[in-house]
Amino acid sequence: MKNIVVIGSGTMGNGIAHVFAMYHYTVHLIDINDEALNRGMNTISKNLDRQVSKQIITEEEKAKTLSNLHPSTDLKAACSTADLVIEAATENLNIKLDLFKKIDEFSGPNTILASNTSSISITKIGSVTKRPDKVIGMHFMNPVPVMKFVEVIRGYATSDATTTSILALSKALGKSPTEVNDYPGFVANRILMPMINEAIYSLYEGVAGVEEIDTVMKLGMAHPMGPLQLADFIGLDVCLSILNVLYEGFGNPKYAPCPLLKNMVTAGYLGAKSGEGFYKYIAGSKDLQVSSMFKK
Ligand code: NAD
Repeated sequence: MKNIVVIGSGTMGNGIAHVFAMYHYTVHLIDINDEALNRGMNTISKNLDRQVSKQIITEEEKAKTLSNLHPSTDLKAACSTADLVIEAATENLNIKLDLFKKIDEFSGPNTILASNTSSISITKIGSVTKRPDKVIGMHFMNPVPVMKFVEVIRGYATSDATTTSILALSKALGKSPTEVNDYPGFVANRILMPMINEAIYSLYEGVAGVEEIDTVMKLGMAHPMGPLQLADFIGLDVCLSILNVLYEGFGNPKYAPCPLLKNMVTAGYLGAKSGEGFYKYIAGSKDLQVSSMFKK
């Protein structure tokens, strides 16, 4: 594999593009407009600077990585030469089904089509293509340049050859992949999201404040980040979409998203990416302040 297409230049897409470009792949980064692409490329550049300052890479490696990246809004042209397409667009079933119909049409017959979805059925995504055997989940963790794990999800029709090839590719990117089966939320989010939802319910019901809830889980359970801060980091809209997939997929009320989470997403409080969620985020500052809505 040499030519990679990454669709979506948001939180995950720019991280995935960054890692492939750093490992010498030619990457076409696709989004719906130049504004989104510029934001994605700026994030990659800043993250590369951080890697240079930490002496993980050199200035030359940064320059080479940037030269391997080709931002574009032309999905058709990018797919025509792709060996692998990784979709990392918004966590929405209709957006993904529409994209996979197009990618299937635009790509050569041997191209593997992967989704970075957190929860949506790979079997369903594969079913709208003419190559369900070559459709697979490649679920990177956030932030992609830092996190070493990839959850590889086999759809019902995904072939052994496709799975073997994606497991090997993940290792070639310095990651440790694990293969799982295709049920709502797979393993990572089936376990993580109920914990985050329960933390939001604890806040909603007044059991404790934002900092107290996060402190219990950080100091009490040795989690590197509290669940509310983690939800902000993932994106509250993404958390809500995943919980809805779990709720609908299992038909079990234990996955019902907390009304507070729904309200925050409706009001545009999406966490770090929108500047405010459970905490407030000031550009260039590492200071974490509880959002004014939850201040005591
Ligand atoms: P995001 O909102 O940060 O970015 C999504 C990007 O997709 C946006 O730039 C948007 O413009 C673009 N997009 C939407 N429709 C498109 C289309 N038709 N064509 C091209 N681009 C399109 O979202 P994200 O957090 O990066 O999530 C992307 C995917 O990764 C989702 O499936 C999500 O579930 C998954 N994921 C997210 C995380 C996380 O921590 N945020 C972790 C693992 C996986």
